[in-house]
Amino acid sequence: MTSFTDLGLIEPLLRAVASEGYETPTPIQVGAIPPLAEGRDLLGIAQTGTGKTAAFILPILQRLAAGNVRPKSRTIRALVLTPTRELAVQIDDSARSYGRNLKLTRATIFGGVGQNPQTQALARGVDLVVATPGRLLDLMEQGHLRLDAVEHFVLDEADRMLDMGFLPAVRRIVAALPTDRQTALFSATMPTEIEKLAAGLLRDPARVAVTPVSSTVDRIDQRVLFVEKTNKRALLSDLLRNRGIARALVFTRTKHGANKVAEQLAKTGVRADAIHGNKSQNARQRALDGFRRTARAGADGAAISFCDSEEAPWLRDIEKVIGKQVPVDAAHAWHDEAAAAAVSSRRKPAGRPGQAPGGASRGRRSGGSGNGGGFNGGGRRRAA
Ligand code: AMP
Repeated sequence: MTSFTDLGLIEPLLRAVASEGYETPTPIQVGAIPPLAEGRDLLGIAQTGTGKTAAFILPILQRLAAGNVRPKSRTIRALVLTPTRELAVQIDDSARSYGRNLKLTRATIFGGVGQNPQTQALARGVDLVVATPGRLLDLMEQGHLRLDAVEHFVLDEADRMLDMGFLPAVRRIVAALPTDRQTALFSATMPTEIEKLAAGLLRDPARVAVTPVSSTVDRIDQRVLFVEKTNKRALLSDLLRNRGIARALVFTRTKHGANKVAEQLAKTGVRADAIHGNKSQNARQRALDGFRRTARAGADGAAISFCDSEEAPWLRDIEKVIGKQVPVDAAHAWHDEAAAAAVSSRRKPAGRPGQAPGGASRGRRSGGSGNGGGFNGGGRRRAA
């Protein structure tokens, strides 16, 4: 089995990786680190969760450290473009952890916050900048940074950039980069526009494609608890209190439902925060900060769904997608037999596998409950 040492990483990075608790490199890391460390361009087809951040950050840190030059004022040596603020913060966090034994400077640039701290950081010149496209362009146009000294450029989540309408901004940023640079492009999928973009950006790239980490179905202990709609909140409090769950993500169907659940948990003494589209960037980031780095990347955990009788068709839809029945946990005080019966009546009769399941068609999704609750709790993975 390939080790991080086999990938040619320098000792300060090997130590950092070891203190992160990583034992072996993931497939994208095995494929991407050696060519990137040699200075080659790279096309990586990989999703979030495969370890792709380390796959590009480690070799870039290595090359930045080897270059041993100080960035001039308002210039940067490596630029990672990513579509969202949350991703930018995560990537920068990874760079801080992996680069802890190196003396390199970092900054993040994204919108939704004041620009002064960002322009102050840029004024000194920065080794590694992780940015979202809009604010980066904005600061360039205001003269706060130049991209003509960029040696390494990473375009992360290129297909999401496309979906979010960022390609024109990305093209303008690319036009400001020197042609003599190293480029890596990562995308989970390769629509034609991204193929074209890659062809224009990359020179003789190494190509690495990895299949997603094994699906949730295999890694996550999934269970469904049948419960009447009105008992969902009591059941949730009970689970959090009595099943030793240290950290949990609770999904609700509506924003209102998210607020209500968070409020009710707070009343019962559970620290809880709601995140949804009506909250400001800062409020969302604060909520996420309290929740950093929990189970991703093929980590395991438990996913618990609450299902009332009106939601039976949805549960059947989910079972069709994942290709198996979600095990039922009836060992709780609010178990609702009516909901359980509604689901069993929709399952296809045993012994007739070819037949379409009864019920559970999209058209029957109408009567959703006001407060459906997916629940993802008990991440067992070490927190960074
Ligand atoms: P990413 O796909 O970059 O978002 O990485 C997802 C998660 O995988 C992060 O939480 C990393 O800390 C973790 N990770 C990255 N590389 C490894 C590795 N070789 N072994 C274990 N975990 C890793």
